[in-house]
Amino acid sequence: MNLLENQVAVVTGAGRGIGRAIALKFAAAGADVVCVSRTAVNAEKAASEVKGLGRRAWAVTVDVADATAVSAAAERILIEAGRVDILVNNAGITRDGLLMRMSEADWDAVMNTNLKGAFSFTKAFARAFLKQRYGRIINISSVIGLIGNAGQANYAASKAALIGFTQSCAKELGSRGITANAIAPGFIETDMTAVLDEKARTTLVEQIPLKALGQPEDIAEAALYLAGPGGRYVTGQVLTVDGGMVM
Ligand code: NDP
Repeated sequence: MNLLENQVAVVTGAGRGIGRAIALKFAAAGADVVCVSRTAVNAEKAASEVKGLGRRAWAVTVDVADATAVSAAAERILIEAGRVDILVNNAGITRDGLLMRMSEADWDAVMNTNLKGAFSFTKAFARAFLKQRYGRIINISSVIGLIGNAGQANYAASKAALIGFTQSCAKELGSRGITANAIAPGFIETDMTAVLDEKARTTLVEQIPLKALGQPEDIAEAALYLAGPGGRYVTGQVLTVDGGMVM
């Protein structure tokens, strides 16, 4: 069943990992997809994979941390795609370090990408969502935003703030048929977690009731639920997808 037939989705950070999996999942469910990434070649590769599934696709190269560039990109997207129904704010980075040694630059980079990027894209499409009295906003947070983590003060703060932002959007936009939800992934196998050595990986897996790291596809399934008709009455929530790690 094509749950997202005739819908247009914008997925940030669609060039790799979780974002790419969401873009492909949405395309397989019938959506046309705007693949936003920082690196042109990655955005284009994801867009051509979406096209391979028989859907319209656009590759947009923009740094989500650049509010002016995001606003211009969103305008172009609305003209080229004609409409936007679903926004997935997924682009994210880590710049880990112990608090005492964390530079202002690393704090700012993480906040500007993970938090301000979501704000800028959501703001840019809010008018269109309000006008059409429909919109689905999905923000990719993290379990780290729920429980914190030594060495990730900037990342945890950005991901926790993203939850407050999501809830505020849900309250502010709900009366116009717009939902806003967050997904809090646990440890998912992507380039972001490829830096973990074998020992760290084994220790992590031991702490996960389902005894495995997650796959990008697991997050894409959750995003499809929130974007599709099944998520109609769900807003302001954080859906944790972590194999049971945080409870
Ligand atoms: P990856 O590092 O594999 O991919 C990140 C994607 O985001 C890339 O496509 C990258 O673009 C894009 N991106 C990064 N910075 C920017 C920017 N400034 N502007 C535009 N695009 C940008 O990450 P994951 O797939 O693992 O993570 C996706 C999201 O899920 C992130 O928000 C992350 O915090 C979150 N998450 C991930 C977890 C995990 O275990 N992997 C756990 C919990 C949350 P490009 O390809 O051009 O470099």
